[in-house]
Amino acid sequence: MSMRLPLNRTKIVATIGPASRAPATLRKMLRAGMNVARLNFSHGDLETHRGDIRAIRALAGELGLTVAILADLPGPKIRIGALEGGSLLLKKGERVIMTTRDMTGRPGLIPVQFKALPQTVSKGGVIYLNDGFIQLKVMEVKDQEVACRVIIGGQLLSHKGLNLPGAHIGVDAVTARDLEFVRFALSEGIDAVSISFVQGAHDIEKVRSFVRKSGRPMHVVAKIERREAIRNIDAILEAADGIMIARGDLGVEIPIEQVPMVQKQLIFKANLAGKPAITATQMLESMTGNIRPTRAEVTDVANAVLDGTDALMLSEETAIGAYPAETIAMMARIARVTESGRGSLAAGDQVREAVRASISRPGAASEDVISLDVLEALKTLKVRFVLAPTISGGTPRRIARYKADTWTLAFTTSERIRNFLNLSSGVYPVLLPAIDCDDELIAFLKRTAALKTGDMVLITRRLPAEKVGKVNTLKILTLD
Ligand code: PGA
Ligand code: MN
Repeated sequence: MSMRLPLNRTKIVATIGPASRAPATLRKMLRAGMNVARLNFSHGDLETHRGDIRAIRALAGELGLTVAILADLPGPKIRIGALEGGSLLLKKGERVIMTTRDMTGRPGLIPVQFKALPQTVSKGGVIYLNDGFIQLKVMEVKDQEVACRVIIGGQLLSHKGLNLPGAHIGVDAVTARDLEFVRFALSEGIDAVSISFVQGAHDIEKVRSFVRKSGRPMHVVAKIERREAIRNIDAILEAADGIMIARGDLGVEIPIEQVPMVQKQLIFKANLAGKPAITATQMLESMTGNIRPTRAEVTDVANAVLDGTDALMLSEETAIGAYPAETIAMMARIARVTESGRGSLAAGDQVREAVRASISRPGAASEDVISLDVLEALKTLKVRFVLAPTISGGTPRRIARYKADTWTLAFTTSERIRNFLNLSSGVYPVLLPAIDCDDELIAFLKRTAALKTGDMVLITRRLPAEKVGKVNTLKILTLD
């Protein structure tokens, strides 16, 4: 097997759906640069997801590529029910009744699958439908009904989402149904789950304790799409293995114009914590139907890279779009060109200063110091690769946050750790049977023709290797 490093270092998460589950399409998507396949448990049945999992793994194996699978839990997303004929046109000024009764919707009457709706809203409040594209003002609240007036109208499709920004919906981010999906994910050996509508660290703990009982580990990503999550971000980052900036719901739950700055702050905090950040939703939205993106979308992708995001996510573009592989290829191109030109615009410089400033705090990790040393060495020496043998993935992730121009090869003996490292920018994870001895790593790199005599590498290590502990050593090695 030879080592093929992609031209882009920012990772790409692609959502699997009807447009992408054909093996021929998946193959093209993998070739185009899909690093993580996202299974959206809001849609599709378990049999379909199982089929996707098997197909993705088989193809990745065949192509010799690493791909992580992320199971995205639906959470307590409130949705409207079915509508007669599949859709309803809402006109500005029109009166509509939202009902919690179980029925099919028709003009003037929309069923909602959330029994507590009348108790949750109040007169004068606003109900957002379809990601905020349709807005209703609450006029009157009854036992099972909420009478509204349409403020912003439009075509409403069956089962579209409903948001009540700032409301205490009184439901846990992790529902019983979500835990069933976690059980399924565990049984399929999936690498990571993402939790929707996280409010605080307790939501992550709930999934973790469920996972713990199964005896199998799993990575947990927190989707940041509620105001409470932004408020509790430090605790969430401590509890989770990574975050997703879920701009779809976020753009309704907080004023949409706040999304750009929140995105920057969240990415920065995730970088500081040494955990991957995924920027999601509408990144190349227009490519769902067109072969070319808009200038604004290209700029959005580039700006997320400059913000220091580890991964970029595609949703409808690959799930139901006409050009799944082409969209991934476009994203990879934008990432590559932006990375090569970012220079001093890189968010990594600020992250380095912040890590340096935090080093003196009690309990600072030796890995933080080592990660700064790696960066210093990369600045002064001509280094081919950083070699970071790892047990948990913590050290390569800490190096990844500076978004340096040199690849970090993360060696691990665990398939799950390898797969999750596929979310970290600039990290190329490698699975080896043993990683404790430099010779094994060097031998691998010579075998795969990645290194030759005279090349310089950096190696991070915990010494002595036999003792479980912290990574505490940086070696600078020139190959002979
Ligand atoms: P969703 O999450 O697509 O599951 O809603 C992403 C988002 O809200 O942006
Ligand atoms: Mn969402």
